[in-house]
Amino acid sequence: MILSPVQIAGIGMTSQRTRNRMVDRLRDRGIENEMVLDTLASVPRHLFVDEAMATRAYEDSALPIGNGQTISQPYVVARMTEVLLEHGPVSKVLEVGTGSGYQAAILSQLVDSVYTVERIKNLLDKARHRFRALEYRNVQTRHSDGSWGWSGNGPYEAIIVTAAPASVPEPLLEQLQVGGRMIVPVGNQRCQQTLTVITRTRSGFEREELNDVKFVPFLSGKY
Ligand code: SAH
Repeated sequence: MILSPVQIAGIGMTSQRTRNRMVDRLRDRGIENEMVLDTLASVPRHLFVDEAMATRAYEDSALPIGNGQTISQPYVVARMTEVLLEHGPVSKVLEVGTGSGYQAAILSQLVDSVYTVERIKNLLDKARHRFRALEYRNVQTRHSDGSWGWSGNGPYEAIIVTAAPASVPEPLLEQLQVGGRMIVPVGNQRCQQTLTVITRTRSGFEREELNDVKFVPFLSGKY
């Protein structure tokens, strides 16, 4: 996939003005981190959805990306990113659930290295093309079941899970470094989970529950 500067910048419903308006709405809804807001203003979300969906890319909603999965809502992406960075800069992040690649692309502009794993090959291949075409070079990808994390590169300062497990898989907890934070929607119901922040301390783990959210389920195995 080779993209022209015009495709990347977008026009009309995918233009910079439209992205800026989305960011204004996110600010109104309470997102405060200006670096996060600037990044959402610069990453072309319209290239992370199918062309037929591109004109809706800057609405604040989740959209289908194929294989029964969705690209997360911009507000949720902004909020999770803001929470991950709220105690200062982070150099290395693990994402479970690459999906379209949008969340990883946002993180790539704010941290040194992003490691992201996805269980559905078809989605991962499309995300890889996007990272290449948009030159997000600090994103490493892997086709695997994220229940096992990605141990070779750990421990991580931050882990973001973008699908909802009923409970957090043990290997992910193990791959979090002391002082590190994980943000994960926890719950086994399709329509309601709780966004949870888990901090690893010297003696164990601390949990803080944020708001209720709606993510696709975290599933085991890969295909
Ligand atoms: N972060 C993505 C959100 C995609 S939806 C984005 O910005 O577009 C969540 C993704 O998690 C789906 O693509 C789904 O296939 C993936 N997923 C679910 N369970 C998983 C698991 N155990 N390991 C890896 N990926 C998983």
